[in-house]
Amino acid sequence: MPNPELLPINVAGEWRLGGGAETATLYPATGEVVGRLRAPSLDDVQEAIDQADHAFRTSGWAQRKPHERAAVLHRVAQMIRERAEPLAQLQRLDNGKPINETRALVASAAGTFQYIAAACETLEEALTPSRGDFMSMSVHEPMGVVAAITPWNSPIASEAQKLAPALAAGNAVVVKPAEATPLLALELAKICEEAGVPRGLVSVLPGRGSVIGDAITRHPLVRRVSFTGGTATGKHIAHIAADKMMPVSLELGGKSATMVLADADLDHAVNGVLYGIFSSSGESCIAGSRLFVARSLYDGFMQRLTARAAALRVGDPADERTQMGPLITARHRESIESHVALGLAEGGRLLTGGCRPEGAQFERGYYYRPTIIDGVQNDWQICQQEIFGPVLVAMPFDSEADLIAQANDSLYALAAGIWTRDYKAAWRIGRAVQAGTVWINTYKQFSISTPFGGWRDSGLGREKGRLGIQQYMEQKSLYWGLNDNPLPWAH
Ligand code: NAP
Repeated sequence: MPNPELLPINVAGEWRLGGGAETATLYPATGEVVGRLRAPSLDDVQEAIDQADHAFRTSGWAQRKPHERAAVLHRVAQMIRERAEPLAQLQRLDNGKPINETRALVASAAGTFQYIAAACETLEEALTPSRGDFMSMSVHEPMGVVAAITPWNSPIASEAQKLAPALAAGNAVVVKPAEATPLLALELAKICEEAGVPRGLVSVLPGRGSVIGDAITRHPLVRRVSFTGGTATGKHIAHIAADKMMPVSLELGGKSATMVLADADLDHAVNGVLYGIFSSSGESCIAGSRLFVARSLYDGFMQRLTARAAALRVGDPADERTQMGPLITARHRESIESHVALGLAEGGRLLTGGCRPEGAQFERGYYYRPTIIDGVQNDWQICQQEIFGPVLVAMPFDSEADLIAQANDSLYALAAGIWTRDYKAAWRIGRAVQAGTVWINTYKQFSISTPFGGWRDSGLGREKGRLGIQQYMEQKSLYWGLNDNPLPWAH
């Protein structure tokens, strides 16, 4: 385990112990302590935001030319790549994801900084068509201090996704990582500092969300919150934002439908469905957790899927062959167990899993077996509630209309997957399904260049893409008078 000492947090560039309670991050595979730190106090929050505002106004970062800010962000990308393996190992310890997944998350964080750097120096403002003796244009200004609040499931990638565009836009950023996984945000802040982001522009305040996250959100100098996490927390933040007239982006939960049509390539579909739900142990907002299979295929497909799920390699996250590691905490595993119990009490049929794996290697970690339940109806709680774990519910469907109606019958609308060889059906269903992202004959693939976000209870606003930078800016219109004569009204 890397560090038994108390780790400093980052209060607007000052690395010091927080003034709050001591907390520990645990390795989910063994329960051992990975790092200890003292959370920030409310005074630390106040100081970090005051200093961030000062740095925003005085450091000159916002006034640097876009290509100059981009050069610093390119260095951040480069430094993440140089430290990729230690970062991936640290992330494995921090949240228990298999090493191959954490390597991919680190690579994604580097790619995000690289892409945002390129977007930063090539973004253009608009000269708008004039309707009089003036020239009109639309430009974007940085906001000041913005906050990034992130969950525990993909720390470095989700933090990079907020930090890179917020810095590219010229802002100061206060990052509030999940209490369970603070380490990668702290590493990212060190890298930003070493790469040349001016001191004070990045703070990392790891502490309890209901106290520290809430205080950050309410602070009058915080001009925007970019939040990723649960829907209930997102709604709470939206209420505070409404009172402050503050823009927010909310990347929230999901219960995404995966649809296997009668003509699908079944090898691809089985692999895709497995990957969609069981990678990251199902602790993924876009997990394909509701499966709909054409009735003509249903029994055979479910047999294959169940056999493959039961054979997934659950185990040590440090082993490169591992497909599913432990869950984040013992408490989260208990919550998954109660969802499964509820689904079975509602009348569901357990096809595989539904229990912890047995064996000495699993005793100390928060492991749970890949679980599939069918015999359910889409309006049951097991099909409507987000579980955020390795639990798939499966149902047959009879027609395209029936499929679309059931897929859309959810409070959530984050993502969907369609497996078919019929491109016309894929087009019809892909357009009719309500979701921020639809994958056709693939699943859980991402590009920083492509906007991401949810509809309805899955969120508000979009991240990623070139224009993601402008989410962290205010738009301003300028009119330049070109007439040598006074305005006619004054005559
Ligand atoms: P969560 O409880 O909502 O926590 C997310 C973040 O918000 C954490 O940093 C948390 O701090 C903080 N927080 C909690 N209460 C807060 C409050 N009152 N004010 C401000 N911040 C507060 O969610 P989670 O259980 O960590 O993460 C799982 C959820 O995230 C799932 O619903 C999942 O679908 C969603 N998610 C969505 C996306 C997406 O892009 N759509 C991506 C990943 C995850 P503490 O951890 O210290 O409480």
